[in-house]
Amino acid sequence: MPPQILISACLLGRPVRYDGKGKPLNDPRIERWKAEGRLVGYCPEQAGGLPTPRPPAEIEGGMNGEDVLAGRARVLEVTGGDVTAEFVEGGKKAVAFAREQGCDVALLIDGSPSCGSGFIYDGSFSGTCHPGFGVTAALMREAGIEVFSDRELDRLAAHIDRTA
Ligand code: SF4
Repeated sequence: MPPQILISACLLGRPVRYDGKGKPLNDPRIERWKAEGRLVGYCPEQAGGLPTPRPPAEIEGGMNGEDVLAGRARVLEVTGGDVTAEFVEGGKKAVAFAREQGCDVALLIDGSPSCGSGFIYDGSFSGTCHPGFGVTAALMREAGIEVFSDRELDRLAAHIDRTA
């Protein structure tokens, strides 16, 4: 079996985002990996029990996924709801699923409080972002699963070609 890639389900166009939409990543390499049976879609926020659509959420205080896992920060909805437990649960399930499916890499959409790996929003719901990791991306890193963002397709393609 070729190396498997866990991919944020919204990047496959599945309507799982907070706004009830997908965000398909249109690139010939995605089509090729799909045809080769390498892509395994997963949505940690849905897996953690959150509904779709749902209020947007951010990690508070300009912190990141590692801070959430260490209990130093919460994930809050714009409406004030605390969804930390759902984010952590969904991230743990994503890691378990990735292992089950034999994925040693993950292609996750950037900017999300779950899946972000290059930048995330700062908790002020003002559109301000900062370098950092979401909760699922932090758990993947901890588990030794290498995370690539949707802006790093070249780097992921090089990795896949090396390990194919
Ligand atoms: Fe997409 Fe990840 Fe958010 Fe699910 S949790 S909608 S896969 S960014």
